[in-house]
Amino acid sequence: MALTGLQIQKLLPKTNCKECGSNTCLAFAMKLAAKKAELSLCPYASEEAKQVLGAASEPPVKCVELGPEKKLRLGEETVLYRHEKTFVNKTALAVNIDDTDSPDNIDKKLSDIAGYILERVGEKLVVDLISVTDRSGDSVKFSDLCLSAYQKTKRPIIMRSSNLKSLSAAAAAVKGSNSVISSATPANADELVKVAQENGHALAVTAPDLEQLSALTSKIKGAGFNSMILDFETFSLSEQFQVNSIARRAALKDSFKALGYPSIKFISNTKLFDIAGDAINEITKYGGICVLPVFDPAMLASLMTLRLNIYTDPQKPIQVEPKLYPIGEPTRNSPVFVTTNFSLTYFIVSGEIENSGTNAWLVVPECEGMSVLTAWAAGKFSGASIAKFMKEIEVEKQVDTRQIIIPGYVAQISGELEESLPGWKVAVGPQEAADIESYVKAKLK
Ligand code: SF4
Repeated sequence: MALTGLQIQKLLPKTNCKECGSNTCLAFAMKLAAKKAELSLCPYASEEAKQVLGAASEPPVKCVELGPEKKLRLGEETVLYRHEKTFVNKTALAVNIDDTDSPDNIDKKLSDIAGYILERVGEKLVVDLISVTDRSGDSVKFSDLCLSAYQKTKRPIIMRSSNLKSLSAAAAAVKGSNSVISSATPANADELVKVAQENGHALAVTAPDLEQLSALTSKIKGAGFNSMILDFETFSLSEQFQVNSIARRAALKDSFKALGYPSIKFISNTKLFDIAGDAINEITKYGGICVLPVFDPAMLASLMTLRLNIYTDPQKPIQVEPKLYPIGEPTRNSPVFVTTNFSLTYFIVSGEIENSGTNAWLVVPECEGMSVLTAWAAGKFSGASIAKFMKEIEVEKQVDTRQIIIPGYVAQISGELEESLPGWKVAVGPQEAADIESYVKAKLK
């Protein structure tokens, strides 16, 4: 049965030393109760506390950390539906390379993947892992490719082979990269656990059905290894959807630890439309790692954008830092615009100013990540609050311009803003960001 925060606090040292990152033992206990932290963060937890809390405090879906600096985190989910709280660690996207591809193709693919960066609302999105599949049966060829893929991209590698010798060689070659060995079966699990342990990698685990898979993960965990990823053996999109859902529900609702791990899906379809369908299923339905068989920049952009929408916290608007932003290369006499710090608003407005070909300053006050009209209605984007912010960040020391352009939707704040900013004139800009370009041409050039 799950323990409450107060029950957990009684088992902690109660010294409030803060080393776990929480200000008090009680605050840490509350995080443990909400399954948002692991007991291992407290270096002073007694053996008794570890025993009692161990199972109760673990997140229902184990966190698996990958990459040389362990920055790629999988699992740790606590809810079935995004609207209940939030999803925590986004589905990692990988691209597969076969070791039988021509050297030229492999080189091109690796440099394309390494160079792919998609910027969305201030985030730089990249391909998270490289999958290397052993089709040659040649352990040297396979492990050489794993190593060169790692060296060229610095991404964790998914080593995929049914050959123990190939996997052992590749695991040793990329030791330190915290990669994934794929996949342990009931027949080879004992050897592969040793290989994973010796080289610090996670282990994907597969079996013909969920019952056998649960038995295998329990056995491996019982042997002292717990960095596992579930590789479901499925043969259709609907089956994969069903199995992903059953496993996640069992972990979250029934505290069934044997399926409480992130998953991996190797997409075997070859048509882009089908590949996209499989990938969308993984992103929207609990996938841990989704391995794409092709590198297609346009498809990646769509998948990453979808993923961004699913894995943002619905209770926290995405925000940019409140400050004075230069757009282009503005001088002290360039025009000054103002908008809110809701990321989407900021990126649309700054993009439209850039498109207009003008260099400008953009004042972005703290508006708790709300859009223009919402912030205005909530009293966070008023003449007085904009003026106060501009004084705080000393806009007048950075620009000589004394005219500020406000969004057309809040024309009503112009009087208050002029009163609160002596010496400034307020111009009412267009309502829609899309009209900034024509506004600039008509009024500022
Ligand atoms: S590290 Fe342990 S003892 Fe220190 S505040 Fe956190 S829970 Fe308490």
